[in-house]
Amino acid sequence: MSQLVLANEGVFPITKDKSGNPLTNLPATGLSIPGTIQGEGKLAGTSALFIRFSSCNLRCIWQLPNGKLSRCDTPYASFNALENIQTNVRDVVDLVKQNLGDIKHVVITGGEPLIQKVPLAQLASTLKKETDVHITLETNGTLFDEEVAKHIDLFSVSPKLANSNPHFHKLEALGLNPSGPLIFHGEKRVNIKALQSFIDAANKPCKDIQLKFVVGRPEEDSEIYHGFLKQLKGWKPTDILLMPLGANKDELAQTIKMVMEMAIRRGWRYAPRVHIELFGAKAGV
Ligand code: SF4
Repeated sequence: MSQLVLANEGVFPITKDKSGNPLTNLPATGLSIPGTIQGEGKLAGTSALFIRFSSCNLRCIWQLPNGKLSRCDTPYASFNALENIQTNVRDVVDLVKQNLGDIKHVVITGGEPLIQKVPLAQLASTLKKETDVHITLETNGTLFDEEVAKHIDLFSVSPKLANSNPHFHKLEALGLNPSGPLIFHGEKRVNIKALQSFIDAANKPCKDIQLKFVVGRPEEDSEIYHGFLKQLKGWKPTDILLMPLGANKDELAQTIKMVMEMAIRRGWRYAPRVHIELFGAKAGV
């Protein structure tokens, strides 16, 4: 089966290895059982196991209303994808099966999982054949693949707004050297054709989609509508989720009220970040 590269969290949170032997360390959740809850979107609160793919074709750096910068919350899968796990589809499926118990949801996230579309399609199809899990794919919406889409139940697409562009002043402030995706982020972050393909793929029986926008400024209301939604067909207002910008409670306090008002005014959904309430900025939870 295909090789794939996962970020250092791999399959998480888990308590057993792929053969069913107990692991010595407790999961980062601090719970003695495998699994966590989905913290965002339509399925927030649902029990799930996560699989985190390594690498991303974007490099998000947002600016908060107070001017502070907020970098991608999984830099180990994008900016600094250094401690990767080289593995293969068979081992990942076995690890999931050993830790699934009564959990019915698997979330494939990143980074950007669709960069590895061949092993991703094989992983999703094998999980579907060998278990009865519901699969959510979390993606930035810039890449689409028909074969992958066949095996996904919920497309959780998070298109990136202009505030995510890693402009030079942001890179300088964070001491990052511009190279590769840092430069190309602005060109790649909007792919209307790919977004339309996700919506079309979701408009089939037993499939669903959410378009999840991270919002930090009032003027982004117009950017979301004119820059994205007006150019797309087949979405419903309840598929549009607005998530407040912020990687911790203090940062969220700056954006929550404005984002709630935007969601109510437009008839879209406000999407809380439950994980930050429960675990703060901790990884592997
Ligand atoms: S698209 Fe997601 S994973 Fe990639 S840099 Fe942006 S926030 Fe990070």
